[in-house]
Amino acid sequence: LPKNIGWIGLGAMGYPIATNLLKKMSPDTQFHVYDVVQASVDKFVEDGAGRVHACMSSKEVTDKSDLILSMVPEGSHVRAVYLDPSTGVLASPSLSNPKLLIDCSTIDPATSLAVRSALTTQHPLASFIDTPVSGGVLGAQKATLTFMLGCSEMDPHLPLLQALLGLMGGNLFPCGGPSLGLTAKLCNNYCSSLITLATCEAMNLGIASGMDPRVLANIFHTSTAQSAIADDWNPVPGLCPEAPASRGYVGGFRVGLMAKDVGLAVESAEAVGVELVLGRVGLGVYRKAAGDERYRELDSRVVYRVLGGREDW
Ligand code: NAD
Repeated sequence: LPKNIGWIGLGAMGYPIATNLLKKMSPDTQFHVYDVVQASVDKFVEDGAGRVHACMSSKEVTDKSDLILSMVPEGSHVRAVYLDPSTGVLASPSLSNPKLLIDCSTIDPATSLAVRSALTTQHPLASFIDTPVSGGVLGAQKATLTFMLGCSEMDPHLPLLQALLGLMGGNLFPCGGPSLGLTAKLCNNYCSSLITLATCEAMNLGIASGMDPRVLANIFHTSTAQSAIADDWNPVPGLCPEAPASRGYVGGFRVGLMAKDVGLAVESAEAVGVELVLGRVGLGVYRKAAGDERYRELDSRVVYRVLGGREDW
């Protein structure tokens, strides 16, 4: 594995993933990191015991690294990180050498393709791969993430990607080609966002009819409504002790990010001529939650409250 790793974006996901890499890579590996929030960089430098070096821009990260990973919220941030003419990855003269750029952000496939094309047109030796992840903050902390790779099974970078990303999670899927990692991620989040809404409504129906939701959740667990949402992330407070719902919906996956992902899935569907009937309704619920300051910063399962879910059982 390369000895100089670049990391851009030390947020809810990026920080614990980078921390795992730091712990698991050989002690002579150096990390060059940048985030627009200086406090996050300073904290990571402190954790790094001499192996982590603060950078002032994505360009500086690129200058100093053999391989770069990024994890920022939206397409506009990915554009800024990679394409800003003075501070972006693209501005680094070091891109005239082969360099692997791994973007783990969940963004729209079109932006990812545009960023890839801008980079590789100017720097034919640079390789840009969309590599979104699933598994949440807990998966990032426990290194149990799933990675969806925007490349084919024959991609020459695959052995390196497997060795590196394998340190952060066991499940790696080459999805076929550029931007298809993102397609896979949007399909997954679209599906899980709707399973959440269905689980919210069904649990609420049970409670309102007089059922103990613990019994209902146990029935789901061994019946056809079984899902990771019902089992591990149940939106009803008090059912899963470790779930965000049981601590005021704090932590987990911000509802604004889920609204973004459902919106991206609906847009992507339009681009390929597929109609997502349930998606239009679901998107309305997630956008309502994301636009409400009481819920905005909370876990996406807070839609249980938006849908009027009962908590008085
Ligand atoms: P976050 O907002 O917690 O972190 C993003 C980080 O990027 C922040 O520290 C921010 O300061 C930094 N940043 C923004 N613009 C930047 C720029 N131009 N240069 C450098 N740093 C910049 O978000 P997150 O929860 O870590 O999510 C990141 C991405 O991962 C999103 O696309 C999200 O959809 C995806 N994701 C999140 C989760 C989750 O559970 N949180 C799970 C899977 C995927």
